[in-house]
Amino acid sequence: MNASTGRSGRPELPRITEHPRLTDRMEAARALDVRALAALLSDPDPRTTAGLAAAADETMRAEVGDAVRFRGLLEFSNVCRADCLYCGIRRSNGTVHRYTLSRDDVLAAARHCAEAGYGSLTLQAGERRDAAFIDYVCRVLESMKTETRGPDLPDGLGITLSVGEQSPDTYRRFFEAGAHRYLLRIETSSPELFARIHPPGQRYADRRAALHAVRDAGFQVGTGVMIGLPGQTVEDLAADIRFFAIEGVDMIGMGPYLPHASTPMGSGQHLGEGERAQLLDRTLRMIALTRLVLRDVNIAATTALQTLDVLGRERALQGGANVVMPVVTPVSVRSGYQLYDGKACLDEDRTMCAGCISGRVAWTGRPVEANRWGDAPHFERRNRE
Ligand code: SAH
Repeated sequence: MNASTGRSGRPELPRITEHPRLTDRMEAARALDVRALAALLSDPDPRTTAGLAAAADETMRAEVGDAVRFRGLLEFSNVCRADCLYCGIRRSNGTVHRYTLSRDDVLAAARHCAEAGYGSLTLQAGERRDAAFIDYVCRVLESMKTETRGPDLPDGLGITLSVGEQSPDTYRRFFEAGAHRYLLRIETSSPELFARIHPPGQRYADRRAALHAVRDAGFQVGTGVMIGLPGQTVEDLAADIRFFAIEGVDMIGMGPYLPHASTPMGSGQHLGEGERAQLLDRTLRMIALTRLVLRDVNIAATTALQTLDVLGRERALQGGANVVMPVVTPVSVRSGYQLYDGKACLDEDRTMCAGCISGRVAWTGRPVEANRWGDAPHFERRNRE
């Protein structure tokens, strides 16, 4: 699809034209000066967002190229032992109908991704650590590798796994079974804030140790944070970017925190127009600054961003992001995976998603990298070094 077809019938995407150059301030931010990062995040001049986006776009093109990479997102189970105070599928939310997809359903979704040219799949679920679940995931991973091979994908789909905190041994088993990337958000790099948004049994130190175990198992490592958590400061967010750099991660998935009414944090909380606009702006600045600092990693334009604003993902793609994750979860269970209220695309089946998302990407004028795993150059570079 060409850009003009994709553009038809949509409101005009704001063009990045006039903006301040911000050169000196960005140099300080790149050197991981937390105060400089925080100042850029909170700068009241609205043109700062466009300035950062333009610089991030330049860095992205130089370091990872301008192609957008797709990963189908399959939310294969919402059963969860964790009780995160912000999350709609937390264990204590009795209003959720719990599901786990059958092996056949998972493989059908994987084949769809391969046929749609996505090249990669992200398998996400709530957290379970019992032997039955771990065995199930391993078996599914093994079948997926063989079943998605074809002339366009001789090694099958690239697979990212995201099933929370597991033991080092379990991470090794998942890696050996065929997943090669793992996504585990730190949620916030502030131990104090982390403690406020989780129950006492879920500890920051454990999450961080799990992230290291993921790397030691051989995975390409993805992490991220939620933006706009109650009580979170711009200094916290600046420290999050420094955390990503210190940890040397390969992929970033971050988005706005959005309230869910059936959670302790979200009940009675509603975002007004002004708050949504500010949250969008802050998230876009976080994405741009993360690109400027980390340079050669993959950065996702997340579904939560699209829920916040209809053009949220496109704006992220214009300012440093290079990955989109079309949801391929069967429509029959989608409403069971509501991490926050108002999640986008609840009733669109995966064929509609494929059409919509290609149109949206074409509209930004970026080429799509089809039938590739699309690993971040950072991973190879860190291995060499
Ligand atoms: N069990 C997996 C997957 C968790 S859900 C794990 O522990 O990694 C994936 C991500 O959704 C979480 O890491 C969190 O950052 C995000 N999320 C959960 N609730 C959210 C909310 N209310 N608003 C925005 N993002 C949320």
